[in-house]
This record gives sequence, structure tokens and C-alpha cells, in this order.
Amino acid sequence: MFLAVLYLWVGLGVVLVYHRVLTHKAAQLKKPLLYLLVLGGLPAGVPIQWVGHHRFHHGVSDQPQDGHSPVQYGFWRALTGWYLERPSTALAIVYAFAGPGRLLFDAWWRPRSSKIHDHLAADIAADPFLRWVSQPLPYAGGLLLLFGMTFGLAVVGWGLTGAAAMYVFYVFMYWGGDLINAAGHGEGARHFRTKDHSRNPGWLAVITLGDGLHNSHHAFPNSIRNDYCRHQWDGAYGACRLFEKMGWAHHLRVPAPEKVQQKVLDGISLKSPFAISEGSMVSKISLEIV
Ligand SMILES: [Zn+2]
Ligand SMILES: [Zn+2]
Repeated sequence: MFLAVLYLWVGLGVVLVYHRVLTHKAAQLKKPLLYLLVLGGLPAGVPIQWVGHHRFHHGVSDQPQDGHSPVQYGFWRALTGWYLERPSTALAIVYAFAGPGRLLFDAWWRPRSSKIHDHLAADIAADPFLRWVSQPLPYAGGLLLLFGMTFGLAVVGWGLTGAAAMYVFYVFMYWGGDLINAAGHGEGARHFRTKDHSRNPGWLAVITLGDGLHNSHHAFPNSIRNDYCRHQWDGAYGACRLFEKMGWAHHLRVPAPEKVQQKVLDGISLKSPFAISEGSMVSKISLEIV
């Protein structure tokens, strides 16, 4: 249960808040919930840097300027090498399997690493809390606290077994997020027309709460959901709808069904309300159409 709660906290922090809410403005959350989930997202980096870098990624996806494109630079650079800003596959592999050790390294490194895209996140820097937590000391404090609360607690409570479990958990969790770049632009089916090489590997969608549907995301980046096709699952979208019902989320954005139909590739079955036969049911959608 401890690991499940941690996975949801970190997962929703990165996938729902860092990515969809802060970067793409696909929904709005009440501030206490937003900030609580931002704290969960800290292992992914500081908010200003993350948002600026990701907005840059959308502008140059799979072009030479896109530092984590597997099409341009191969699997290991796309997975973890780009964080380190070193063209060393060996270092990328060590970092990929560092598990909770990444918390300690990142506490020092991430606020100081590439900040060249920070100017693309001026709106994030305008928020006092997001600006504060993006600074080296608060960020390091947050990660060290997380390390103590998770790895430290696991060792104290369950000894070597706890340490091993927490190590496997962190490797799995980091790989989930990192594979969105490395596999989301390299492996799996394409369902929508986009200018990049983005893909929709279904297995990745399951472990990343929906962000593995990366081709869908690149087709409609400002949407709160990625699950337009049948048999697709988007956990972060489900969580956001739950938050909406509780009054904690509002202004959820989705594309109009006609726009989805324009970009979908031949032979792909869309789910309601995006299916062609139900394209006239726009008025039945409770979400905001953009
Ligand atoms: Zn991408
Ligand atoms: Zn995005």
C-alpha cells in the first residue's frame, strides 16, 4: 500500500501536474492539490526547468535540437543520457539503474543543469511556490526528505528486504517516466498524424497513467486526455475527472471530435464521444471543447 500510494503521488505529480496542467494548461487544479502533487513530481526535476524543456520538445520533436529523441540520438541518450548532458552510454546506464540514488544526485545536479529553456516557462516562474521549489536549496531539501521518507523508512522498517524493494520500485518508477521519451518516440503503433515519430505503446500507457499514449498526446498536446481510441486507458485523465467531481479540478480541455477525426489514421477505431458515428454528439460532452 505504501508503494502504491507513493507511485500514485509521484505519477500524478509528473503526468497530471507537471505535464498536462503546468506545461499544457489542459486543466486547472485547486492550489492545495496542485502544490501537493508538485511535491510528488519533484523526482522529475524542478518545475521551471521541466516545463521549459518540455515546451521546447514539442516545438522541435525528433529534430536534431530535440536532445532526448531516440530517432536522433539512440535509446540510452533518450532514456537518461540527456539528463546528464554527457554523450556517454555507460554513464546513462549507471544513472538508469541508480534507483533511489538518483534522488541524491539530482538534489545537487538538477537545479544546476541545463536552464536554457527556462524562458519558455515564465508563467511557472511567476508562481511564488513553483519559483521557490525550483531553487537549489528547497529542491534539495524536498528530494532528501523524500529519500528519507521512502528509502530510509523502508530500511528501518523492513531491513534489507525493504531496501531491495525500494530500489526496485525507484528503478521501475524512473524507467516508466524515462521511457515516455525513449519508447514513446520509438516503439509501438501510431494512431494519429503528427510531424514527429511519436508512438502509442499500450503497455507504457498502463505503467505511466496514460502518458505512454504519446502519439495521441503529440496530436492534441493541450488535451487533458490521451485515450481517444478503443481499448486505451488513461489513468491520469480518470484521476482528473475524479478531482473534477470533488470540486478540485476545473476547465478540463479536450479537442472537438471533428479535430480528432481529421488526424486519426485509417482503420483506427475511436471511442465515444470521438467515434465518427457519434461525431454529432458534441453537445453531450460535459467537458470544455477547445
Ligand atoms: Zn514527445
Ligand atoms: Zn507534452
